[in-house]
Amino acid sequence: MDDLSRFCCLNPVCPEHGKRGAGNLTVCHRYGPGKSRRMLRCRACKGRSSEREGTPLFGAHLSEETAVAVMGHLAEGVGVRKTGRLTGVHRDTVMRYGRKAGEHAAALHDELVAASPWDA
Ligand SMILES: [Zn+2]
Repeated sequence: MDDLSRFCCLNPVCPEHGKRGAGNLTVCHRYGPGKSRRMLRCRACKGRSSEREGTPLFGAHLSEETAVAVMGHLAEGVGVRKTGRLTGVHRDTVMRYGRKAGEHAAALHDELVAASPWDA
């Protein structure tokens, strides 16, 4: 059984949009290296999306370990050139990942802040 509680429908017009663990998602097929990536289908809107869509790893050509290492270095305040040297990734690629991770962090921040109770 796949644990899909971290995922939600990404279709903005779907009634279940953005609701994690709503039980509306099923795995419709697997793809990628070793069939390790799941394509998810939403029962409510019949939409499909990759489990990596909406994350900085979606469309990423680096391996997951490398991409995570790049973003980890950037998150620790390691500069772009140094991150590139440490991970063996071209600095243009490091910058691209940094931007993607930044956009994702901003979106996540907005979601988390929006969900915070007023009296927290
Ligand atoms: Zn949906």
